[in-house]
Amino acid sequence: MIPAAFDYARPETVEEAIGLLGQHGDEAKLLAGGHSLLPLMKLRFANPSVLIDIGRLTDLSYVRVEGDELAIGALTRYCDLVSADVVTKEAPLLGYASSLVGDPQVRHRGTIGGTLVHADPASDLPAVVLATGGSLIAQGPAGRRIIGVDDFFRGFFETALEPDEILVEVRLPRTGACPWAYQKFVRRANDWAIVGAATVDGRVGLVNMGQTPLRATAVEEALTSGASVSEAAALAADGTAPAADMHASEEFRRHLARVLTRRALTAAEAR
Ligand SMILES: Cc1cc2nc3c(=O)[nH]c(=O)nc-3n(C[C@H](O)[C@H](O)[C@H](O)COP(=O)(O)OP(=O)(O)OC[C@H]3O[C@@H](n4cnc5c(N)ncnc54)[C@H](O)[C@@H]3O)c2cc1C
Repeated sequence: MIPAAFDYARPETVEEAIGLLGQHGDEAKLLAGGHSLLPLMKLRFANPSVLIDIGRLTDLSYVRVEGDELAIGALTRYCDLVSADVVTKEAPLLGYASSLVGDPQVRHRGTIGGTLVHADPASDLPAVVLATGGSLIAQGPAGRRIIGVDDFFRGFFETALEPDEILVEVRLPRTGACPWAYQKFVRRANDWAIVGAATVDGRVGLVNMGQTPLRATAVEEALTSGASVSEAAALAADGTAPAADMHASEEFRRHLARVLTRRALTAAEAR
C-alpha cells in the first residue's frame, strides 16, 4: 500500500506543466485531486517516476457563463460544482450528480478534469457530460484544441488527450431550462454506481455499462422517432457490453440500465 518512489514537481503555470510533461514523457503523471491516481499508485497499478502537481494552478478553477455555454476550469472541484449558483442555474444535472460522488472528502479534493481524464466507466461525471453534450479544451505545446465530448472517451481508461496535453476546460451548453435527471444505483451511500443513467433534453449517458462511459443512442433515437419513455428505455442496454463483477452480473446491469433510464426519463419529464 506504499507507492514506489517518485520525484515531485509543482509547476506555477500550465505552460510549465506542459514543458515538464514533454521533458519526462511517459514517466510523468499529472496530479490533480489525487483521488484516483494516488490509490492506483499505492496499489502499484501506476508507477510514475515524476508527479507533476497541478493541484495549485488555481487559474484552472472557475465556472463562468460564456455566451451560450458554461465554461468550467479543469481543476474545479466537485464541492464547487455542488455549491455554485451558476451551475445550479445553467447545468443543474452536473451539480446534482457531483453531490452524489463519493463522500465529502472525495468531493473536496476530486476535480472535474481528473475524473474526465481518468475516464473510469463507473464514474458519474463522464456520463453526465456525455448526456449534456459540449466539448473539452486541451492545451499542449502547440496551443489549445477543442475535442467534442463524443470523441473524448476512446477506450478503457483511455481518452483522446495526447501525453503532453493538459485538459484545461470543459464547455457545456446551458441546459438549465431543459428536462434533466440522474439515477445512480448503489448498494451503499458514497459508493461508485453499479449502474447510472443521466439524461438532459433527450440525450442519455450510461455509467458502468461498458469499457467507456456511453451514450444510450438507441434510446435517444427512439425518443426522437416518437417512442414513449417506456418503449425507449427498454432499449437502454442495446449496444452496451457491461462487465460482471462482485456487485452485479452482466444481465443484472442490463436490467438496471433499462429501469434506471426509464426512471430518469420519467423524472425529467415531470420536471
Ligand atoms: C473513496 C472514494 C470514493 C469515490 N467515489 C466516487 C464516486 O462515487 N463517483 C465517482 O465518479 N468517482 C468517485 N471517486 C473518484 C473521484 O471522483 C476522483 O477524484 C476522480 O475520479 C479523479 O479526480 P482527481 O482530481 O482526484 O484526479 P487525479 O486522481 O489527480 O488524476 C486522475 C487522472 O487524471 C489525470 N489528470 C488529472 N487532471 C488532469 C488534467 N487537468 N489534464 C490531464 N490529465 C489530468 C491524472 O494524471 C490521472 O491520470 C471516488 C474516489 C475515492 C477515493
